[in-house]
Amino acid sequence: MARAQASDTPLLRTDFALLIDGESVAGERSLEVINPATGEVFARCPAAGGADLDRAVAAARRACGAWSATSFEDRTQCIRRMAAVLRTNQEALAQLLTREQGKPIGQARDEIGRAAGQSEGMTLIRIENETLLDDAERRIELRYVALGVAGIITPWNAPINLAAGPLASALYTGNTVVLKPSPYTPLSTLKIGELIREIFPRGVVNVLAGGDELGQWMTEHPGIDKISFTGSVATGKRVMASAAGNLKRITLELGGNDAAIVLDDVDPRAIAPKLFFAAFVNSGQVCMAIKRIYAHDKIHDALCSALAEEARKAKIGDGLEAATQLGPIQNRMQYERVIGILEDTKRSGARILAGGDVPRRPGYFVSPTIVCDIDEASRLVREEQFGPIVPVLRFTDVDDAVRRANDTRYGLSGSVWSSDPERAAAIAARLEVGTAWVNQHRATSATVPFGGAKESGIGRQYSVLGLKAYMEPRVLSVLKHPV
Ligand code: NAD
Repeated sequence: MARAQASDTPLLRTDFALLIDGESVAGERSLEVINPATGEVFARCPAAGGADLDRAVAAARRACGAWSATSFEDRTQCIRRMAAVLRTNQEALAQLLTREQGKPIGQARDEIGRAAGQSEGMTLIRIENETLLDDAERRIELRYVALGVAGIITPWNAPINLAAGPLASALYTGNTVVLKPSPYTPLSTLKIGELIREIFPRGVVNVLAGGDELGQWMTEHPGIDKISFTGSVATGKRVMASAAGNLKRITLELGGNDAAIVLDDVDPRAIAPKLFFAAFVNSGQVCMAIKRIYAHDKIHDALCSALAEEARKAKIGDGLEAATQLGPIQNRMQYERVIGILEDTKRSGARILAGGDVPRRPGYFVSPTIVCDIDEASRLVREEQFGPIVPVLRFTDVDDAVRRANDTRYGLSGSVWSSDPERAAAIAARLEVGTAWVNQHRATSATVPFGGAKESGIGRQYSVLGLKAYMEPRVLSVLKHPV
């Protein structure tokens, strides 16, 4: 995170630059980046000030006209080259991503592979002009045109994947971009800027690291037409308010408190590893991780034991070690928040079935924790914990489980698990969410819209729906009589 500059240490990596108008730039400020597995600063990178942002926006505006006039085919070629570059550099990027983010190296590789795949996937989607009417009198067409300059602001939990989706969408639809990663995880995004510099005409992609204030300046900047924001609900509300200045279009991908409802007909031991992974991947720091498990009374105890066994087996450690399954929490602030929730859970008298401790070692580690017999009003159930601690709640009546799952301002996603998929689907359809899954969780793709209901967001990423959010619908209405 941004801290006062420390004195130089020989091991500090400093090979990073901002990308502004096709040039690698040193930036007006700098950020120090901590490896969450050690708690130590391991890199310093440049950070943008207000003048850097102005130059990036001006460059993006200059590049807009020519870029939006290129064909979908030309832009597809550029995005495919970007995907190829991600794949060629997958290992180096994954190593860097794990060092700054903390996730196990296999998950870092997956994230980069996924970013490449999703970017390519977007280019398979066609945005066609529509003819609404064509008769002897008139022709009315609905065309889709690029909005202009898109500002993309990303969080620290999956910086590459969460940049790639909006980046590919904005570019494919003919917009130019100013991309800002989280100050906690700026490095891999800056590296990608460097790697794709030669692929796009100058000014089309600009990458600026910086603190929260840089994000705010972007949302206020009159030269930016659209903000794609992925982050917390609280910041999303601020983004929406300040984007009102010039009525920027917004896509908000915000937090979640996903419920998984497990019906009475499952084999608890068979599904425990799937539920565990969907809850604890990236140490629970995933917007659409399972954050509450509602288990039918009939299988509740067996499921709790099986989940606790998974938690006890899981190997926590530095993500760069091959055996590690769960890495650290990404930053000190979030680590302290999760410990606060853990302490609140213990005080509440809930039963801790596995974990519940904070290992004595450097870095921001919390043991994977399974909790049961917990008050529904407790912080762990009400809030988005965004860490490796998950409550299992008992139900006997499905209507009651659905009501409790929906009793939240969040509405990102949810799932229902059963040996009868159609029975589960009927229940899943009642979840007040952007995505309801059956017998799976976290399954997304470039052609399927993703986003939140209620306070989990506004708009969708991916799919035709997501792409059109980077475009203005324009009606062309022609009266065929000469005048
Ligand atoms: P955050 O809201 O603190 O920060 C996200 C980004 O916004 C960072 O780049 C930050 O610098 C910037 N920012 C901060 N203040 C700003 C402001 N006033 N104006 C504009 N930008 C500002 O979120 P975080 O802690 O980095 O990320 C975790 C959150 O992100 C969780 O709630 C998680 O669920 C959510 N998330 C959602 C999705 C999704 O697709 N729905 C995906 C991943 C993460």
